[in-house]
Amino acid sequence: MATQNQSFQAITESCDECGRETPHDVSVQIRTESQKRENAEFSREPYRVTECQICGEESIQRMNNA
Ligand SMILES: [Zn+2]
Repeated sequence: MATQNQSFQAITESCDECGRETPHDVSVQIRTESQKRENAEFSREPYRVTECQICGEESIQRMNNA
């Protein structure tokens, strides 16, 4: 029995590289925007990262779209 408890979730999304829907690994990462260094602690944003399991193409989407 596989007991890997990763925070990955396999979903199907369309991939531009593959030109079709492919399985993707999805994870959420907190990334600090490096543009404003002095406010780095306040500019951490959650990003949704999806990686195509076929070609490895990574797409990153900001989650706070306010
Ligand atoms: Zn792909």
